Amino acid sequence: MSLSPARLERFARHIVLPEVGGAGQVRLAQSHVAVIGLGGIGSPALQYLAAAGIGQLSLVDHDVVDVSNLQRQTIFTTRDIGHGKAVSARRWLANFDDSLSVAVSDAQITADNAARLLAGADVVVDGTDNFATRLAVSDVCVAAGIPLLSAAVGRFQGQVGAFAGHLPDQACYRCYVGDAFDAEDCDTCAEDGMLGAMAGWAGSFAALQAVRVLLQGVSALGDPQWSRMHILDGLAPGLRTIRIAKDPACKACAAL
Ligand SMILES: [Zn+2]
Repeated sequence: MSLSPARLERFARHIVLPEVGGAGQVRLAQSHVAVIGLGGIGSPALQYLAAAGIGQLSLVDHDVVDVSNLQRQTIFTTRDIGHGKAVSARRWLANFDDSLSVAVSDAQITADNAARLLAGADVVVDGTDNFATRLAVSDVCVAAGIPLLSAAVGRFQGQVGAFAGHLPDQACYRCYVGDAFDAEDCDTCAEDGMLGAMAGWAGSFAALQAVRVLLQGVSALGDPQWSRMHILDGLAPGLRTIRIAKDPACKACAAL
């Protein structure tokens, strides 16, 4: 595959980076990323993934745009209120770059349909807001051998972790939740609140980490940083990183 002159120009600031280069940009153009949850994290993640020229995108969200989403869900505008997030996101993408191949679903992702919705993805970016969904997505990723970037945000804190539980020495998201099942999740973010720019930080960071995963073996940026959780603190501000151990009793990944 080679990039057309128009695409070379569009991605010139990537291609000039030795850590990405022409080979890296071609890999991005050949990549398929599934974005689950088109909210505060999914919006900026999608914007930077699309801007990076990811050739194929699958978008899943069953929700409808609400006026209170606009404080942080940056792909939506006032005219999208009342419309589905998935179709609104597709409209944003069509305006942004009609060269990208896009599939959307307004189904609620569950353990029953996740395998179908994520099929063929090279990496999944999960920005959903509850444990049940995240665990269902993670379990399917482990079973299908798909890398998972899990991102969450609440108040002034964000978390972005890269999981490859299908690999023998790497943790999955279920391993992580077993060790830290506490109020750091966003199950209560509607009540707790969230500084909008924190969602932007976590979502764009998730897009950066997804690019690292996709470029593994292609160019120098390709370091997936498996089993590492980056914790973004918007108050200090600062960033710290913890390593997640594979849980030898994990019901999703221990037997692999
Ligand atoms: Zn696990």
